[in-house]
Amino acid sequence: MGKSVLIDLTRCTGCRACQVSCKQWNERVARKTELNGNFTNPPEMSSDCYTRIKFIEHEKNGKPVWSFVKDQCLHCKEPACVSVCPVGALEKSKEGPVKYSYDKCIGCRYCMVACPFHIPKYEWEKVLPWVQKCSFCSERINDGMEPACVKVCPTDTMFYGEQNVVMAEAQKRIKENPGKYVNHIYGKDEAGGTAWMYISGVPFEELGFRMNIPKQSLPAYTWASLSTIPGKALGIVAGLVAIAYFRNRGNSEEDK
Ligand code: SF4
Ligand code: SF4
Ligand code: SF4
Repeated sequence: MGKSVLIDLTRCTGCRACQVSCKQWNERVARKTELNGNFTNPPEMSSDCYTRIKFIEHEKNGKPVWSFVKDQCLHCKEPACVSVCPVGALEKSKEGPVKYSYDKCIGCRYCMVACPFHIPKYEWEKVLPWVQKCSFCSERINDGMEPACVKVCPTDTMFYGEQNVVMAEAQKRIKENPGKYVNHIYGKDEAGGTAWMYISGVPFEELGFRMNIPKQSLPAYTWASLSTIPGKALGIVAGLVAIAYFRNRGNSEEDK
């Protein structure tokens, strides 16, 4: 069935330990940022930032309050990014993570366009760029460990386990705490279901979640769109495959 994570937004204190832990585990560099009137830092996810906490100021019972929302790949059950990749560089594993293979990627960036949550990022600043995104710490979970961000969280905001156990926990928390949560498990149905889900005490629309995501899985839509791509564009893909072949061959020769 695969692993899943429930993010309980009522527990998050915005400490950002998960952000730091993700950076450390994945050996991503920190980029210099500037305050821009918002405490979300960095302001956007990037090829060096697979997760971040959004700081959202809103009103509750006439008083200003903060909410904190952790952002990362949701590891969709039927991922649009996987369905559009022409060379199989993205793959949904039976353990839950949507994995990316550098050696197969041709840099077409269809995955970035297809993802309904705007997750994959590109290394625009590099001469030989790759796509980057949260890996669900697949090496760690294959070794029986929790994802790095889950492990470090001091408030147990993230509940990790088998998908059916995580779903049951989400339903139990909502049922046993009337008035604490809105009656919505974000990710249960969105995009056909996602491995990472959220529960919240604040309506998701007030926290900036996308509410217009179809309930059906997205690959059927993406294939329908791809079938309209003219032969010329497919020729470009063939060219990208050739470029990637030489790029990847160069890398493997450097590795020797
Ligand atoms: S959230 Fe986006 S990048 Fe992640 S699995 Fe779903 S479609 Fe792919
Ligand atoms: S699962 Fe791993 S890669 Fe994904 S956000 Fe958490 S620490 Fe980062
Ligand atoms: S470590 Fe936990 S409490 Fe701290 S910001 Fe991340 S999810 Fe929130």
